[in-house]
Amino acid sequence: MSELCYMCDKPGTTVEHVPPKCLFPELKDAGVNFRLNLITVPSCEEHNCKKSVDDEFLMVSIAGILGNNSIGFEHYNGKIQRSLKRTSYKLLEKVFLKKRLVRLGSENKFIDILWGTPDYKRLIDCFTHIAYGIHRHHFKANFIGSTKAYLGFLHTNVPNPKAFKAFIKEKASLELADKTKYGDNPGVFYYQYTEPDMFGIFLVRLCFYQNVDVYVAYMPSTAEKPFHLGFELMNLGYRTIITLGDKEFEFNSGSDPKRLSAPPISDSEIK
Ligand SMILES: [Zn+2]
Repeated sequence: MSELCYMCDKPGTTVEHVPPKCLFPELKDAGVNFRLNLITVPSCEEHNCKKSVDDEFLMVSIAGILGNNSIGFEHYNGKIQRSLKRTSYKLLEKVFLKKRLVRLGSENKFIDILWGTPDYKRLIDCFTHIAYGIHRHHFKANFIGSTKAYLGFLHTNVPNPKAFKAFIKEKASLELADKTKYGDNPGVFYYQYTEPDMFGIFLVRLCFYQNVDVYVAYMPSTAEKPFHLGFELMNLGYRTIITLGDKEFEFNSGSDPKRLSAPPISDSEIK
């Protein structure tokens, strides 16, 4: 009897790497083995096929991000540049909806970086699959419920991007401070889990090349619908200050002053 696919109820007849194997540089390129004990989960053919198309897309999207460690940088300049050239840079068209190559540097030293609008929906889809795979691997069970991914490395056009990014980062760093980092190739990838909160919701941090952070929240189908007054006010456009530890995060600071007279809030997390 075979195990079930990590994404659905079909038999898991194939083996899927999470995250994709191509993110891990090969020994012949890196001179170091970054493919120790890679994580695999059983997958049905349908989910494996669909995902392998996305693997290269994900690799091109995140390995070249500025600020990555030297493993990511070498990988980007080696294998990824080769595959970009091979496909006449068509891969880039898939990654960035609008793109521009920017040349940074001085004197004779330049590096090319990409600047543009990544295919956000497709990225979210890729990281959601990774979150399901990591859950299966870590808890030895498929996740049943819904997820929400937050890409810490992207500048998005949503309201309050800076404050929200800082807030998520602070919240994650507080909750993950003493949590184990899992993964035998931490320079390429590791993950951490938070404990479930009062609603049963928990968070995974996926960290690539010690720089690209992605947070995925898991809401099990058994969880109660969470209600956080601070977030509700924030979404309505009220000026809202949420405190976390000893730090304050202000949202909608430029909103209509009339809206400042929001009803008093007793939630201890909100001032
Ligand atoms: Zn499946």
